[in-house]
Amino acid sequence: MSSMKTSITVAYGDGIGPEIMEATLRILDAAGAQLAPEVVEIGEKVYKRGITSGIEDGTWESLRRTQVFLKAPITTPQGGGFKSLNVTTRKTLGLFANVRPCQAYHPYVETRHPNLNLVIIRENEEDLYAGIEHRQTDEVVQCLKLISRPGCEKIIRYAFEYARAYKRHKVTCFTKDNIMKMTDGLFRRIFDEVAVEYPDIENEHWIIDIGSALLADEPERFGVIVTLNLYGDIISDIAAQIAGSVGMGGSANVGDQCAMFEAIHGSAPDIAGRGIANPSGLINGAIMMLVHIGQGNVAAKIHNAWLKTIEDGVHTGDIYQGGISHSRVGTQAFANAIIERLGQEPTHFKPVSYASAPKPIHVTSERRVQQRKELVGVDVFLDWSKGSAKELGDALTAQHTAPLKLKMITNRGVKVYPDGIPETFCTDHWRCRFVSKEVPDSTISKQTLIDLLQTLNNVGFDTIKTENLYTFDGQLGYSLGQGE
Ligand code: NAD
Repeated sequence: MSSMKTSITVAYGDGIGPEIMEATLRILDAAGAQLAPEVVEIGEKVYKRGITSGIEDGTWESLRRTQVFLKAPITTPQGGGFKSLNVTTRKTLGLFANVRPCQAYHPYVETRHPNLNLVIIRENEEDLYAGIEHRQTDEVVQCLKLISRPGCEKIIRYAFEYARAYKRHKVTCFTKDNIMKMTDGLFRRIFDEVAVEYPDIENEHWIIDIGSALLADEPERFGVIVTLNLYGDIISDIAAQIAGSVGMGGSANVGDQCAMFEAIHGSAPDIAGRGIANPSGLINGAIMMLVHIGQGNVAAKIHNAWLKTIEDGVHTGDIYQGGISHSRVGTQAFANAIIERLGQEPTHFKPVSYASAPKPIHVTSERRVQQRKELVGVDVFLDWSKGSAKELGDALTAQHTAPLKLKMITNRGVKVYPDGIPETFCTDHWRCRFVSKEVPDSTISKQTLIDLLQTLNNVGFDTIKTENLYTFDGQLGYSLGQGE
């Protein structure tokens, strides 16, 4: 075997982290993985030193050097002011794809879905997780959902490339594009575009609500699922739970340059230091890491020994079942059982091979010719609580807003002017759409918007934000209000 060692950054984490990391590294070493670990400190101790991200500058240097991070779970301190280390790491290193294989290990691990074997590929950087939230009025707060064309293209291409590399024959997309026609609609449209380039792989789309219901009821119908950040976050926990493998699942967060591998569970402070934690989640994360760095033969050796250990009934307490399990072991004894089985293959489960180890999947998104963007109007949001929708509409119409005119008002998305009905509940947060007075979609100038805001300000309206209305190559770049 080549003696070229791959440098990796290792964090022992908090709670059960150090115990399961020790067990995992012993297995990697015994299996002949060629690794040069650089150990860094992250998590609770770093937070307690007053570093709100939980990660020190020196750690970024190590991560940028090695580009591979094997990370044990950490404890996020309670209380405000601390940032999620996972979110920070994903965004800083551009880890756009979260890859979570979920598998049932029936009958050794209890599950109602013995044939469940799927991979969830979740977009990791965009969506509601941009963390851009504002309180705008006394009654209303908002969170911005940002979706980009390159972001969608990268994750969707990644999902198809993954399916091809790992011989999965179907990619399913989950969105809510019937409601969010622009954001989820873009994701869906790009899915349809990219799918055409992979005629060897079946593709399908489900609306997230019915899709999640099917996932919970008949998970064996899915192979690879690709979806947006929030939906992916939720369904990957559902899938791991129904597979019976929350304590066993590994996860990869992959970017163009760097990748992070971990267990899906947390730091389990309730059992920390007792030597009883199941190290399988981190072991499965480490197996994904070995494939990523081109040591697929070692990955397969560990994976097969781990499967053999599970089917031999050597189980940690969390998966122990009387009548099925053979012996109840602690963290290190479980690791020893795997080490003893290195070189053996499972007989009940299908042996794993990474002989044609998929190379790290690199995807790019192509820069397109920019479309012609034209300003055709503005949505002005007002904080107003002086009366009914009709009173607000009449007051705005009475102003000299030419060359713009008030087209409609909505409250929480429901059209309330003109032609609203008094039964509609209204908050203090009003969207007032202004467009050209002459021709509805004709171009207007930025100065026109500024003049409008000036006029509204002069008569005492509290403008809380504006959203410009654009067309792109003549196509509307905004949603229409209800009833239009
Ligand atoms: P958890 O996953 O740590 O624990 C949930 C339950 O599962 C506990 O009863 C625990 O004992 C059990 N459990 C978890 N992993 C186990 C294992 N390997 N073996 C045996 N039993 C196991 O979730 P939690 O209690 O909600 O969170 C604890 C801490 O972990 C929190 O501070 C949370 O923020 C953090 N967390 C970190 C990560 C991460 O670093 N990636 C992920 C999730 C949660």
